[in-house]
Amino acid sequence: MAALLKDVVLTPTHPKTLLLQKHVDYIASYGTDKDEYEFCMTEYLRMSGVYWCLTAVELAGQPGRLDREEILSFVRRCQDESGGFGASVGHDPHVLYTLSAIQGRLDAIDVDKATDFVVSCMNFDGGFGSKPGSESHAGLIYCCVGMLSVTGQLHRLDADLLGWWLCERQLPSGGLNGRPEKLPDVCYSWWVLSSLSMLGRLHWIDGAALAGFILACQDAETGGFSDRPGDVPDPFHTLFGLAALSLLGDAAVGAVSPTYCMPQRVVDRLGLRPQRLSV
Ligand SMILES: [Zn+2]
Repeated sequence: MAALLKDVVLTPTHPKTLLLQKHVDYIASYGTDKDEYEFCMTEYLRMSGVYWCLTAVELAGQPGRLDREEILSFVRRCQDESGGFGASVGHDPHVLYTLSAIQGRLDAIDVDKATDFVVSCMNFDGGFGSKPGSESHAGLIYCCVGMLSVTGQLHRLDADLLGWWLCERQLPSGGLNGRPEKLPDVCYSWWVLSSLSMLGRLHWIDGAALAGFILACQDAETGGFSDRPGDVPDPFHTLFGLAALSLLGDAAVGAVSPTYCMPQRVVDRLGLRPQRLSV
């Protein structure tokens, strides 16, 4: 018997238009109740959360909705004596949150060595896993393609083979999964789509069908996007939903950099020129 394809079913009750103002309201009110259970339980993600929320309201064209001084003061208070940044005030420093706090600085690392390691994680299907020989995974592919884009080494991967693996992630619902036999998820819209964009192969998937899936993942009551239609929204999926719609050409959302997942105007202002291939 043939295996059933894992997917979700979109119904007429799911949203079909972009509820942009609701998403800005959702992000602006997120975390205002500091005693809320969810807010307390996600303290270890706080620094990344600042990045997700800031970028989401930037892309929505309303950066003023978040308190700039409050955020700057929080980021400063998270810096450890060692120079690293923690997830929240008083937490130990960690590379992930240091990245979220600074986003960039290539002059401080051995780029050639780091690039060789990334290329050693490439698989026979063109994809990348977390270490040499690990299964290809869309989230890790984004990290590797992004790294090669930043360092100008995209010629070291097989763009056609990888592009084919990435566009096979699209399911009949229009949504994208991260690996074969997995359900579609809004955040994978970003990991897959941004990788295809850096490879110059964005047109290899059905953009209209994907936009339909992403719009169906909006919460029409509270605002925000969830991983799949009908689930609880969160700032992580809200940013990646908006960012994916930006890459798909939604004029209501500001332009996003596929390499950095930051507003394009910020990347331009910093003078960053990540590599992009063309077919
Ligand atoms: Zn997700």
